[in-house]
Amino acid sequence: MKLSLVVPCYNEEGNVEEMSKAVEKAFLNCGFDYEIVFVNDGSMDNTYNVLNEIYKSSPQNIKVVNFSRNFGKESAIFAGLKESRGDIVAIIDADLQQRPEIVLEMVKMLDEDKETDCITAYQETRKEGAVSKLFKNMFYKIINKFSETEFVKNASDFRAMRREMVDAILQMEEYFRFSKGIFSWVGFNTKYIPYTAEKRFSGETKWSFRKLFKYAVDGIISFTTLPLKISIAVGFITSLLSIIYLIVVVIQKLCFDINVPGYATIVVLVLLLGGIQLLCLGILGEYMGKTYMETKKRPIYIARNVLDYKDKDQNS
Ligand code: UDP
Ligand code: MG
Repeated sequence: MKLSLVVPCYNEEGNVEEMSKAVEKAFLNCGFDYEIVFVNDGSMDNTYNVLNEIYKSSPQNIKVVNFSRNFGKESAIFAGLKESRGDIVAIIDADLQQRPEIVLEMVKMLDEDKETDCITAYQETRKEGAVSKLFKNMFYKIINKFSETEFVKNASDFRAMRREMVDAILQMEEYFRFSKGIFSWVGFNTKYIPYTAEKRFSGETKWSFRKLFKYAVDGIISFTTLPLKISIAVGFITSLLSIIYLIVVVIQKLCFDINVPGYATIVVLVLLLGGIQLLCLGILGEYMGKTYMETKKRPIYIARNVLDYKDKDQNS
């Protein structure tokens, strides 16, 4: 098998059929064999039934992994990579924002250049609001400064990788998956090509600003210990300031006999220090919580069933 296309799907009933048609059209005369691995990430709509129909009526190249519930796109990508058989594996969204023709280009590039292991598409121009742009820039600045892993701005999950790289990614069995980081953490030679995202064919995006923000925080926690370092710095600075203030107060009292006004200062300081302590505890707790969850070694996904074209062979 030359190529696997991994397609995570969550509530994509209006897209998956068009998607498989678009792939079929793009790969009509490509001259190699390929498979599509659809991962139904616990969709609430009719996605699974549509996928089942596609599986039944397809030639021998459709696989469907059906999750027992919604595990998130990161888990769906992991499952797709695990179930894929291709020498090259491409990840592509189900909503046709990313054209299958580009995958063909990626495969060509990989064939021509044996030294490259991964071709990643990034969005050259993005229509987005000023606020989300600001946050995005901040995120990339922070994470690139403090993480040893490199994060390329606007690089997407839309990519084609060689089998060696896929196997490396599959070895990373962490529960909290931040694929932007994982993809670059494993190394390998990656090339970036620009692409323009089309309009969503049907349905709407699952990303809200709140979800994106949480995703960014998760990424920073997964790949840096920056928040912990910040709490050390804050603790250090407040300790230093309070020692200076202590000396000042003692000198005032002993040398000049100035009565230091008390109540307001004490209330403000108690509240401030209490707040800082709680904040640092929270940061620590966030890391501990993540560690606790990881130690449980829960599976990254649970499949209710898998429709495999290999089984179809035997039945018919
Ligand atoms: N997706 C998924 N599980 C989720 C959320 C999204 O598998 O919990 C899939 C979704 O079906 C789509 C892809 O991830 O194929 C990208 O999602 P979306 O189009 O909502 O994101 P956007 O393109 O807006 O970044
Ligand atoms: Mg999309």
